[in-house]
Amino acid sequence: MRRKLAAGNWKMNGSASALAELHALLPLLPEMPPDIVICPPAPLLYRASAAAQGTPISIGAQDCHMQQSGAFTGDVSAAMIADAGATHVIVGHSERRDAHEESNGDVRAKARQAWAAGLTAIICIGESGDDREADNTLDIIGGQLSGSLPDHATAANTVIAYEPIWAIGTGVVPTLDQIVEVHDFIRDRLITRLGGEIADGIPLLYGGSVKPENADTIFRAANVDGALVGGASLKAADFAPIIAALAQS
Ligand code: PEP
Repeated sequence: MRRKLAAGNWKMNGSASALAELHALLPLLPEMPPDIVICPPAPLLYRASAAAQGTPISIGAQDCHMQQSGAFTGDVSAAMIADAGATHVIVGHSERRDAHEESNGDVRAKARQAWAAGLTAIICIGESGDDREADNTLDIIGGQLSGSLPDHATAANTVIAYEPIWAIGTGVVPTLDQIVEVHDFIRDRLITRLGGEIADGIPLLYGGSVKPENADTIFRAANVDGALVGGASLKAADFAPIIAALAQS
């Protein structure tokens, strides 16, 4: 049975006081919660990890450097993230691919660093609105997946998040058919590359304007194993119903 995962990406939001949302989430969780990962900004990783100790919530970072250590002022390595108590790291988010010009090769190197530090890499891929309109979605997704995923991925070290760029932070959500088409395609590509046994265990998340109102529908798709949630993960009252919908799916 594939594990289900609700991951929250706080982006560059939140200060120490926002950690109250972690505590507020706990009484709202279902009896048998799915895996839950909250990814706060880097300065909060240590405190968030301490706050989440002994709870069903795990902590993740939003990025790591592609090198193990060295003269990279301002950057954070995967080992530092693990040392702060986190267990996951998002790599290749479209905002980083765009604003920091990260290539598939960069994302692959970051995922390798994540694995070397014992972290699970949440590898993001997704097409732009122009790609979608030009009917290039599956070509783009196939290229990003093969270029960003290192060899030797396993269900323990890898999560793939499909995040159409045009759906992130816009309130626009693909149709269920569109989500199903891409998630089935990703699963097939993983099976071809890794073999059925490994590929079947890797969770595939959908991300892009997931809200309490649409989560139930999105989680109906067989190859949707959870969500990467931005805005709606900031408040426990919004994130909790998404987690509950996933638990019931
Ligand atoms: C994201 O940033 O990964 C994301 C999915 O954001 P939102 O849920 O706000 O669209």
